[in-house]
Amino acid sequence: MNKHENLCDIIIFGGHGDLAFRKLMPALYHLCHDGYFHQDTRIITVTRADMELEEHLCLVETKLKEFLIIDKYDAEKFNIFKKKLHLVRVDLSDEEKYSSLADVLSQYPERDRVNYLSTSPSFFGSICKALSRYELILPSSRVVLEKPIGRDLKSSRAINIEVLQYFQESQIYRIDHYLGKDTVQNILALRFSNRIFMPLWDANNIDHIQITVAESVGVEGRWGYYDEYGAMRDMIQNHLMQLLCLIAMEPPCSLDADSVRDEKVKVLRSLRPMTPADIQQKTVRAQYTKGSSNGESVPGYREGEGVKNSTTETFAAIRVDIDNWRWNGVPFYIRSGKRMQKRNSEIVIQFKGVPHSIFANKGACISKNKLVISLQPRESIELKLMNKIPGLSEVMRLQQVELELNSSENISRKPEAYERLLLDVIHSNPTLFMRLDEVEAAWRWADSILEAWQEDIVPMKHYSAGNDGPSAAIELIASDGRSWNDE
Ligand code: NAP
Repeated sequence: MNKHENLCDIIIFGGHGDLAFRKLMPALYHLCHDGYFHQDTRIITVTRADMELEEHLCLVETKLKEFLIIDKYDAEKFNIFKKKLHLVRVDLSDEEKYSSLADVLSQYPERDRVNYLSTSPSFFGSICKALSRYELILPSSRVVLEKPIGRDLKSSRAINIEVLQYFQESQIYRIDHYLGKDTVQNILALRFSNRIFMPLWDANNIDHIQITVAESVGVEGRWGYYDEYGAMRDMIQNHLMQLLCLIAMEPPCSLDADSVRDEKVKVLRSLRPMTPADIQQKTVRAQYTKGSSNGESVPGYREGEGVKNSTTETFAAIRVDIDNWRWNGVPFYIRSGKRMQKRNSEIVIQFKGVPHSIFANKGACISKNKLVISLQPRESIELKLMNKIPGLSEVMRLQQVELELNSSENISRKPEAYERLLLDVIHSNPTLFMRLDEVEAAWRWADSILEAWQEDIVPMKHYSAGNDGPSAAIELIASDGRSWNDE
């Protein structure tokens, strides 16, 4: 794509919010510096804040200094970046008062527009309605929706229906920032550009798959939001389900957006529905109690502001089965929690053992092959293989070694997920964004579990902050004769 075809106005609603300052502005700053913007690109912050442009620029600069982790702030780069920054004051709750935004946008009436809704979803409908009322939506406009899109199928559908009154499905970019991670995209490269995995990627060769997204932090002051959602809605329905789809999907016929998304939807539709008895047996929900994190004592979840009697889970583990030919009999164990021992997101593909070991009566033990895709804190892919320990020992001794695929060694800076995703919206490429049918299929599956939990058919378990979750999660996988990949 020619960089000069990228001319657009990027409008950030909720532009003085946490996400805008922590993720969006640093990503835009990098894209600007790396030459991805047309020189006339405008980044228009929409906020209620009563301030002049100069004050806004100072605030953005301060926040960039705080949040630019990889590449430190650079005054020269900021001087170039700040020329693109604009400010418009709008109270999003008042659909009648978008004229200041209309004035700024109408300076370039034909220009492509990327509307990034970095607000609570309760504003999505009214922002789109106001954009339409002021005739600010062009056929080339895009709208980016942040998660969470609803807290169940019904509310998600209501939000989508509202947005769809004003934007076509092809203009809607539902973001799941996990899909912007380089290593997550590398799953596609690994699976579909290497012949060696093709015959191995099925129930004949794979014993089971684990997907873990563990956070060591708690809810970090976001009680109001988190208590409404919990681990299932905040992490599993979206991030973990997307990872599961990329691992389980059939090869798409091409890399175009609909081919990839068609295959992901097929996976979601193949998830085995769970009866109440299955839910009792195959799901675990838990809350953390007081404990310690990074050597400091931390309070339990229910000791947080306003959540005294909360029944919201901060941890969930589920055995997922996929009813299709490829995955028949291969369980996917997924889990996610807050205040876990360490921050760790990984996918483990556990292969079956060799059919017969010629080393067994010599006392050598063969560990089964494993492919470990780490997403956090480090991004890496490791294939664990058996190897001979060098030497003249009469008995052949074996060891497990790691074949590491580290694709980032030769690049100076690995882009952040939001850079990839923002660039894709600018290029009108929705491959890494969720289509409506994907979101709905994921909610349909999640709702069946959430409804059963709501009826208390699965007791709430507890785990001390700083642990690997409740013992019930260990039992969930141990009852199938397996164990989590926790070292
Ligand atoms: P936030 O800090 O609460 O910011 C939301 C912004 O919405 C506020 O800063 C405010 O913008 C705007 N807003 C609220 N009421 C408004 C009104 N009446 N008129 C105009 N603007 C109003 O939330 P956030 O953490 O940035 O999150 C934004 C969205 O992204 C949420 O849906 C969240 O769930 C999602 N998300 C956040 C993160 C994250 O890391 N923070 C990660 C994933 C998803 P102004 O202050 O500019 O007026």
